[in-house]
Amino acid sequence: MRPGADVIVVGAGPAGAATAILLAERGLEVLVLDRAKFPRPKICGEYLSPEAVRILDGLGVLKALDAAGAALVMGMRITAPDGTVVAGTYRPVGPWQPYRGHAMGITRSRLDGALVDRLRALPVDFREQVRVTDVLGDGDRIVGVEAIDVEGRRRTFRAPLVVGADGRASVIAQRLGCRRPHRLRRMALVTYVAGLPDCRDAGEIFVDPPDYAILNPLSPDRVNMSVVVPLEHVTPWSDRLDVFFAARVRQLPHLARRVSGAERVAPVQAMGPLAYRVRPPRVGGVLLVGDAAGFYDPLTGEGVFSALRAAELAAETAAQAFRVGDWSAATLAAYERARRACFGDKERFVRALQAVIRRRWLANVAARALARRPALLDLLLGVAGDYVPARALLAGLRTR
Ligand SMILES: Cc1cc2nc3c(=O)[nH]c(=O)nc-3n(C[C@H](O)[C@H](O)[C@H](O)COP(=O)(O)OP(=O)(O)OC[C@H]3O[C@@H](n4cnc5c(N)ncnc54)[C@H](O)[C@@H]3O)c2cc1C
Repeated sequence: MRPGADVIVVGAGPAGAATAILLAERGLEVLVLDRAKFPRPKICGEYLSPEAVRILDGLGVLKALDAAGAALVMGMRITAPDGTVVAGTYRPVGPWQPYRGHAMGITRSRLDGALVDRLRALPVDFREQVRVTDVLGDGDRIVGVEAIDVEGRRRTFRAPLVVGADGRASVIAQRLGCRRPHRLRRMALVTYVAGLPDCRDAGEIFVDPPDYAILNPLSPDRVNMSVVVPLEHVTPWSDRLDVFFAARVRQLPHLARRVSGAERVAPVQAMGPLAYRVRPPRVGGVLLVGDAAGFYDPLTGEGVFSALRAAELAAETAAQAFRVGDWSAATLAAYERARRACFGDKERFVRALQAVIRRRWLANVAARALARRPALLDLLLGVAGDYVPARALLAGLRTR
């Protein structure tokens, strides 16, 4: 048996916690390092797609989310710039079923808390308040990380495999030179509102180029409200976000009408630029999972699903690497291939959707078309909800 850990997982958000759980369940010795102490804040729309619900059940945390009172989000209502409203529920589409028939709304402190609790119930060495500062290299392989612990001491941790699950500011991706800027430059403003009528069981999207807004129910009297705007529109207001947010909501007439009786119950938080690219590492001994591997846009709410699904793929590749005792870039490339096969079509779908919502006339035309074709809307929600493969939508468009 090797001394120390088999795998170091950097970050205990959804990507890192899920990867660590799956690796520990396969009998590997896992060390998880997170710079934060949980619960820690995370700006998010707090929507979980139906397929994320399936993976969370497999990870053994769904009961905890149910017990914590997660909102059951049965469908989506989309309002186009001209006020056309299309509403659909998560329904079976051909052979594809939404796991439990709904998405979920739950705060990130509860979601991440449930994952971390599951981690603590396993034989995993989980250390909070340990900030990873660099990777340790040996030839063409990463063999560990350098970190600073809660007492400010420099620490070195070694393992044949490092999983970078350290989110959008990933030190691992940056030290490997993998991170690139993206030309889509948007910012999200996120807060909570209370007193919104009829908001229990459906998410709501308001498209009004260049902005869009999302309302996601979390409990009978708490709704996560996000408004996504061009980055340069917010920059001059960065020290007066509340004022900018209120003014921007007034400019989106359908949203403004919808939230007119509601009250904002939390400060506005901002995050941006939202999109960035990350190329796969060229060295062995390392995998990037979740936001550490790149992010595009929160419109279709698949960030947590993608983090969890990528954790499943990473755990499979890691288990194979340990079976053969080979953590080279060539062996670990199986993970990138699996990721492309799994996410490639959905990424193309999301990019096409972005092209539609950027143009007022196109967004209106699309909404009217969807209002006339409920079956197409079911398909679209299924793809957005991650339980229908995106290629089914292409086939559906051709036959309709
Ligand atoms: C505005 C916005 C709204 C969103 N809305 C949704 C939504 O509604 N639904 C959805 O599914 N997705 C949404 N997403 C995406 C989702 O939040 C992310 O995809 C998801 O959190 C990714 O999980 P992760 O584990 O990769 O990263 P994170 O959740 O960010 O976790 C990373 C962890 O790494 C730790 N860490 C960071 N650096 C270090 C370090 N140097 N050393 C040690 N630890 C470190 C952090 O403390 C953190 O715990 C949204 C994103 C944004 C920006």
